[in-house]
Amino acid sequence: MSHLNRLFFALELPKTLQQEIVRWRATHFSPEAGKPVAAANLHMTLAFLGEVSAEKQQALTDLAGRISQPGFTLRLDDAGQWPRSRVAFLGSRQPPRGLLQLAALLRAQAARSGCWQSPQPFHPHITLLRQTDSALRLPAPGFSWECRITEFVLYASRVEQGRTRYQPLQRFALKKEL
Ligand code: ATP
Ligand code: MG
Repeated sequence: MSHLNRLFFALELPKTLQQEIVRWRATHFSPEAGKPVAAANLHMTLAFLGEVSAEKQQALTDLAGRISQPGFTLRLDDAGQWPRSRVAFLGSRQPPRGLLQLAALLRAQAARSGCWQSPQPFHPHITLLRQTDSALRLPAPGFSWECRITEFVLYASRVEQGRTRYQPLQRFALKKEL
């Protein structure tokens, strides 16, 4: 059997935005609130692929390469939490249509290629904290960060020395907005 990689498609956040988010988090959450996601790991997943063979990876990236979708502006102006999965996250009050379309396409391609997809609707989010405290109360967002999204990225997720690292494998350009 060929070697398997744990893969997902996601949006990369600029380093400056990752650092801004981490600064906001540090001033708004106590250390007991939960386990902070490392700055470099702050991302927005579009489609999770699971453990994938090299052959399937090729098929999936061929399909992703045919996607012809415009870029969009992602505005982060919302914070939320899912107490059951114990995560706190950032999101958009009104996610751009381009984001929803891109995720829908990638998820449909993944499903057609035999990657199990969650029946849950896509909820665009950036995980901030994991294993959140049950008493966690989210602060009011008080921010509105914007960033231009011009590409999406295929990542491999690996655990190295006990830490999860995402390695970008391939970048896919979105069309320039008219
Ligand atoms: P950890 O090593 O603690 O699991 P992680 O969750 O960041 O760290 P992965 O589990 O490899 O690393 O997940 C990579 C990305 O895919 C994350 O955004 C994660 O939320 C998402 N993801 C993982 N499993 C699923 C799943 N079954 N369905 C949808 N998204 C998933
Ligand atoms: Mg995980």
